[in-house]
Amino acid sequence: MRHDDLPAWSARAAAWIRDYHAGLRDRPVRAQVRPGELLSALPRAAPEAAEPPEEIFADFERLIPGALTHWQHPRFFAYFPANAAPASILAEQLIAGIGAQGMLWQTSPAATELEQAMIGWLVRATGMPEGWTGTIHDSATVATLCAVLTMREKALGFEGLTEGLSGAPRLRLYASAQTHSSVDKAARLSGIGQANLVKVPTRDDLSMDPAALEAAIEADLAAGYTPCGVVFCAGGTAVGAFDDIAACLPVARAHGLPTHVDAAWAGSALVCPEFRPLMAGAEECDSLVFNPHKWMGAQFDCAVQLLRDPTDQVRTLGLRPDYLQTPGESAVTDFNEWTVPLGRRMRALKLWFVLRAYGLEGVRARLRDHVAWTARLCEALRAEPGIEIVTEPRLSLFSFALAEGDAATEALLTRINAEGRVYLTQTRHAGRFVIRFTCGTWDCTEADVMVVRDVLRASRP
Ligand SMILES: *Cc1c(COP(=O)(O)O)cnc(C)c1O
Repeated sequence: MRHDDLPAWSARAAAWIRDYHAGLRDRPVRAQVRPGELLSALPRAAPEAAEPPEEIFADFERLIPGALTHWQHPRFFAYFPANAAPASILAEQLIAGIGAQGMLWQTSPAATELEQAMIGWLVRATGMPEGWTGTIHDSATVATLCAVLTMREKALGFEGLTEGLSGAPRLRLYASAQTHSSVDKAARLSGIGQANLVKVPTRDDLSMDPAALEAAIEADLAAGYTPCGVVFCAGGTAVGAFDDIAACLPVARAHGLPTHVDAAWAGSALVCPEFRPLMAGAEECDSLVFNPHKWMGAQFDCAVQLLRDPTDQVRTLGLRPDYLQTPGESAVTDFNEWTVPLGRRMRALKLWFVLRAYGLEGVRARLRDHVAWTARLCEALRAEPGIEIVTEPRLSLFSFALAEGDAATEALLTRINAEGRVYLTQTRHAGRFVIRFTCGTWDCTEADVMVVRDVLRASRP
């Protein structure tokens, strides 16, 4: 395949993508294959000789779609969504064609400066304070790891980087039990250690208890530990818990602790002023991550970390060997110094295309619809005999269960997902097996959401 062959094949791929999206409602949402099925249909070794594109494409059509779980399916209600709006698909194609490496300003000034511009757009769109800056990572996990590494180094006077952690004070990190496992992973990978991630008790509304945070920090100080930071949960993955950041922040402040907000899913909702009170206080924290790839239309991957001041993070993660210096340009931003990997994709192009193609009003309208439809479905399920709403809607997420108990609820979920019209996943809440509902794919409609009730009725014995 040569460059001259690309226009025809790209057109064919684009038509395929259009038809794929148009036909999604006719496919079961979740892959209905058995483990190993695709693997055994593929050759064990790469071909020695070049194969014609026609054959490659034919095998793609024959083998791959049937083994996919369709994340862009309008009735994908599992996990959290991973959007792929058409404008973002187009941007991805251009990013792939350009193949730029945005590790330094000079390795592609457009990558760095478009990223700076998009961060500025998002700071303003989310109502965060002027002067905040930020960067685009691949994932919220990496953004949170960067924030936690920075907390560690601040607490160690930036000596952990060179001296290692043996013999260093024992650090303590604080988060609620509702936070995502990426915070546990950050505690593990940063060398702080899982055992030093203190899961602060929550109040009845599942938010971190500020008094318990204060008590935990005081107890740790008395025991000779060194508190290093607090991670707040803004839209927990299990059932959408929100910490009362404004209530907890004075505690963190009083102890001089840096703060990071994990709003991977819910952060996109900051573009709607009416949803901002859920995350009030986030604008006073030091760092916040949200994934436009979850709920703002941008194709995976696109995780935005907003920062009050990048100095400490760059001091923690920046490293400039001779071969990465830019002669004569000391004032430019080299975004690799804000994150873990050196190489960086040009993700900002997706945000540029998406935010312009739909406008902030287009993004807001979708989010508002998703939240309204979720509330409507929740009321419809509440009216079904034997169904209990276990956690009330938080934005576009609620959970429910059968009154008969865990085994019946689990069996119900299995039947729902085998039926194929919708896909839902589970979590445990207060010791109970519950089914989560969340919506947010780009092409989802109210009718798609209400199909959950039909499938539920059809799936009950
Ligand atoms: C999805 C999610 C994450 C992890 O996101 P990745 O970008 O896949 O690493 C972290 N925290 C919350 C609250 C999430 O919803």
